[in-house]
Amino acid sequence: MTGNCMIKAVRGTRDLLPPDTALWNFVEAAVRDVFRAYNFHEIRTPIFEETQLFARSVGEETDIVAKEMYTWEDPPRLLQEYIDSYREVTAALREGRQPSGKLVSLESLAGTQSLTLRPENTAGIVRAYIEHKMWNRGLNKFYSIGPMFRRERPQKGRYRQFYQIDAEVIGPPSAGSESPARDAEILELLATLLDRLGIKDWTLQLNSVGCPNDRVVYNEALRKALEPVAPKMCSDCQRRAVTNPLRVFDCKVPEDQPIIEKLPRISHYLDESCRKHFEQVQEILKAAGVPFTLNDRLVRGLDYYTRTAFEFTHGALGAQNAILGGGRYDGLSESLGGPSAPGIGFAIGEDRLVLALKESAEAVQHKPEVYIAPLGPGMDREAARLARELRHHDLVVELGDETFRLKKSFEAATRAGARFILIVGENEVKTDTFALKHLASGEQVSVPRAELALRIQSTL
Ligand code: AMP
Repeated sequence: MTGNCMIKAVRGTRDLLPPDTALWNFVEAAVRDVFRAYNFHEIRTPIFEETQLFARSVGEETDIVAKEMYTWEDPPRLLQEYIDSYREVTAALREGRQPSGKLVSLESLAGTQSLTLRPENTAGIVRAYIEHKMWNRGLNKFYSIGPMFRRERPQKGRYRQFYQIDAEVIGPPSAGSESPARDAEILELLATLLDRLGIKDWTLQLNSVGCPNDRVVYNEALRKALEPVAPKMCSDCQRRAVTNPLRVFDCKVPEDQPIIEKLPRISHYLDESCRKHFEQVQEILKAAGVPFTLNDRLVRGLDYYTRTAFEFTHGALGAQNAILGGGRYDGLSESLGGPSAPGIGFAIGEDRLVLALKESAEAVQHKPEVYIAPLGPGMDREAARLARELRHHDLVVELGDETFRLKKSFEAATRAGARFILIVGENEVKTDTFALKHLASGEQVSVPRAELALRIQSTL
């Protein structure tokens, strides 16, 4: 490799470029509008947190925590210095010589912290809820938009830095946070949002994964069922069968699927209150006209989920067809040292949402309404004045350059997709009247300065 070797974006990350960014902005604007109508408020949490936060909430045995997190010791140098000094001292001892430096003391490492780039955002939001004692405000409805990081195998629709649109409803039970009405409201919001974005062909897959009590009984049943078959499964499943059997359902190995298909179903293990809760969610959804499909294999890849769990899938996305996922997490606050704070939330994969929308990209592009072509020395100044005036009228203006010949200005205006070209030459400036040409029709008119904005706007 030479010193001048080109540096590219890291594998699994990507640059979001125009015109695609217009689509991202369109999505985010629509999302913010819908959230406002449902009385959600934005929350922004840091993109890195203590590693323990994710280990304790998402779960040690999940793929996310066990394999996919970007984690480092902070400050990283201290740990490296410790390792280097340890290596040097052991090598010196082995070789019977004096070590070149001292062993870095273990105590000095006590100040280091294990940090992780967030792989998801519910844990961070619940941490913030506890840290800022937000239960005092009753029911909280949060949303946030931002990047997440998982060390997954990159492919279309799967990246190592990707974007999620998160929403969470969380609060003390006295504020109604446990109510099935909250679950149904979240799901209805999602249906509205996808419809508003023009995303058709979505399917809502719905399940209840029960509460911790059901989970103990179900996990026991799973463990028993897995005992005789686990040795035939992949090494991950063999481990999961012992440590966290529910996670066997996250397995993607094709050979394991027939075995998984025969395992006991969570729907048979729900207690009376969970069953009732789930029935009520379904009843409200039916009343609201939100279609859904029951799928009792859907357990989601995170440990904190209780009761309602769901995914929206979309036909056009291929292998990575889950456009969003979410569920209840009634015990999460307690497991992070907070008070009882039942909650429900979801994360939309924004990258996948944009992919699903891609066909209509053209519809949200903005193009310059007018390209100003200064012709000849000194005309850049006049063009700048005119551009400022027109932009004050909310027009999208692209500016040329006085060194361009007329032909080059026309080419540039066409390439930019401008609707009009406005010629700014010495004569025009003198008479304060400008040649305005409609590029598509070729029609040209002379327009006094004061009427320019109106003229351009009225022919939009
Ligand atoms: P999860 O937090 O795993 O439930 O994911 C919620 C949503 O985020 C999924 O339905 C996907 O749309 C999206 N998502 C998860 N992981 C990735 C990834 N590596 N790349 C792109 N989108 C992702």
